[in-house]
Amino acid sequence: MSLKSKLPNVGTTIFTVMSTMSKEHKAINLSQGFPNFDCPAKLKGLVAHYMKEGYNQYAPMQGVPALTNSIANKVEHLYGKKLDPASEITVTAGATQAIYCAITALVHPNDEVIIIEPAYDSYKPAIDLCQAYTIPYSLKGPDYKIDWSEFHRLFSRDTRMIIINNPHNPTGKVLSEKDMMELQRITAGSNILILSDEVYEHLVFDEAKHHSILKFPELYNRSVSTFSFGKTFHTTGWKMGYCIAPPHLMEEIRKIHQFNVFSVNTPMQHAIAEFSEDLSFFEKLPAFYQQKRDFFLEKMEKSRFTPIKSEGTYFQLFDYSGISDLPDTEFAKWLVEKHKVATIPISPFCTKVNNQRVVRMCFAKTEETLSKAAIRLCKV
Ligand code: PMP
Ligand code: GLN
Repeated sequence: MSLKSKLPNVGTTIFTVMSTMSKEHKAINLSQGFPNFDCPAKLKGLVAHYMKEGYNQYAPMQGVPALTNSIANKVEHLYGKKLDPASEITVTAGATQAIYCAITALVHPNDEVIIIEPAYDSYKPAIDLCQAYTIPYSLKGPDYKIDWSEFHRLFSRDTRMIIINNPHNPTGKVLSEKDMMELQRITAGSNILILSDEVYEHLVFDEAKHHSILKFPELYNRSVSTFSFGKTFHTTGWKMGYCIAPPHLMEEIRKIHQFNVFSVNTPMQHAIAEFSEDLSFFEKLPAFYQQKRDFFLEKMEKSRFTPIKSEGTYFQLFDYSGISDLPDTEFAKWLVEKHKVATIPISPFCTKVNNQRVVRMCFAKTEETLSKAAIRLCKV
């Protein structure tokens, strides 16, 4: 049978490739982004409680009201934005499904979508399925800052959407308020939509602050923002997230969502809603992860890897040009085989050739794991 692939250039994601290699080589896995510690016991207890109590049938399509109300509450507290939970919030199967629904609902054939590379790997396949064009803006290390006038030059009359990811995976960079104002300025008066992937909203370090798109009313009207309970509660395996958009955009997104999954895990929605009544968990997250970043960086001080200090996310980039001239994917494979530490190369996040000699390491790990990994990496 001859089958014409809709995504001929898509292979297995680098996260699966590296996690599989990590198992094969019995390595320490700092590649795929997930914590190796558990979520709060109280949260697990609440899921069990709601299951036992019989909350086991379909949730409403947009999410259970207890959860959408709790999201609205948190958003108002953190970003000063008042939302109507019924028309502006949808609970999704992870941020991935929210991103997929937003792109497929709003992007048409031959539209152009600007992404910022290195870019998280799920954006482009969704753009491809819309028969639209991906226009990459390449960040340059080691500071990975956006030059907004250069960025503006990518605009054409077909520009339909810009996808930003803040805090940024894999560079660990955080957009400043000035960056957000620049984005607002160059798109003012246009119909360009912004997809703002904010799954690491609570993982921002030092003096950096998270400037959610929800804080910018003019941008909000043209935006969809996506979030992940997986990152926030150390529950990546639950695949729970949500998106926020003004009603005219959300109406279109829900047309896809309702036929894509219809609704997501009922007992978990109730559990997360109850757990989120206390906002102190969110407030402790930046310090919790900053401590891990600092611990790992200190242990890595004697290595030949040069860190590009992470400002947010649970990822840390390391320049390995002082160690090897191998391209990043080959280097990552060599590292896992020879030194038993799995990392993520950056080139799978780029459509253009990327000659940067950097790999990403995930520090959402126990101190024991980070210490062991650093001992191995200091020998490289
Ligand atoms: N966007 C980015 C930038 C991510 O790093 C991730 C995490 N894998 C996602 C989206 C997807 O989040 P989720 O696991 O909730 O689908
Ligand atoms: N977001 C995670 C990362 O960047 C992994 C997601 C996945 O495995 N698809 O590592």
